[in-house]
Amino acid sequence: MFRTAIAGSLPKPSWLAETEKLWPEWKASGPELDRAKADATLLWLKVQEDAGLSVVGDGEQSRQHFVHGFLARVEGIDFEHKVKMGIRNNRYDAMVPQVTGPLRLAGRVHAMEARLARAHTDRQLKFTLPGPMTIVDTVADRFYGEGKEGRIKLAFAFAELLNQEALALEADGVDIVQFDEPAFNVYMAEAAEWGVAALERAARGLKCKTAVHICYGYGIKANVDWKATLGEQWRQYEQVFPALSKSAIDQVSLECFHSQVPPELMRLLEGKDVMVGVIDVASDVIETPEEIAETIGRALQFVPRERLIACTNCGLAPMRREVAEAKLAALAKGAALADARFA
Ligand code: ZN
Repeated sequence: MFRTAIAGSLPKPSWLAETEKLWPEWKASGPELDRAKADATLLWLKVQEDAGLSVVGDGEQSRQHFVHGFLARVEGIDFEHKVKMGIRNNRYDAMVPQVTGPLRLAGRVHAMEARLARAHTDRQLKFTLPGPMTIVDTVADRFYGEGKEGRIKLAFAFAELLNQEALALEADGVDIVQFDEPAFNVYMAEAAEWGVAALERAARGLKCKTAVHICYGYGIKANVDWKATLGEQWRQYEQVFPALSKSAIDQVSLECFHSQVPPELMRLLEGKDVMVGVIDVASDVIETPEEIAETIGRALQFVPRERLIACTNCGLAPMRREVAEAKLAALAKGAALADARFA
């Protein structure tokens, strides 16, 4: 059976937070918000199980944003005075917190939702964290220094903190720790030069499976417009995959369906599990099982069957809830059709 998983995030229900936003405001505060986050986590676990996914996650229901959710528990970061900054090489502006001092973890970041999810599912549990290079690209640094040297110092400082949390997540019973590194597709040379090393620092000592998700971003307008400028062949992965294939990371998540990524680039990931994106997160149209099975069939030319995991291209956070639910069901149905076809 082909394994199935999602990249990570899922839409927040309207009673938890604003919908269809990348940085939604919470609808409650204090213990009421904690309860709502927990309820949403359980709800999505059930939806993923009912859809038939073999790997499930918390849907990132307890964090406002995939990067800033982690940073909220890091000392040395000023969240009170956010500044506007162009991120992903100025693709879009974001209000980002500032690094103002030495970084230190204030305590556990994701203990509640990881333990809750573990207690309520027997399926493989994947938990996502932002990768060091992507964090560096989503904060304004006022402390670690200018230029590439500063970025590297800052990335490794974050990598140590990520590693602490990742080891704790493993102790909570998580089966796969995944780091999200969309920045790898933007700063390819630096990703190969030091990004992968920072990632390995974040994953050091983990005995559970480790993964990295590299994508072309959520299905928001700025990303859709950017992709339109990337030409007929998107070859960004070609610069990063060789370094990843030599790394200790076990699984790589990539975009496939509706992308211009040449599928033969998957060949560069020999020895890795490959999470192939068979679900488009930039379109509300629900993929048919036939389309999904075809995408899997194309990937099978370059990835051995036992190493292929059918996945979404990216997170589903900014989508409408009913669209996300339908896409999860489609994912499992398409993988089942591929099972029948390629058995
Ligand atoms: Zn993504």
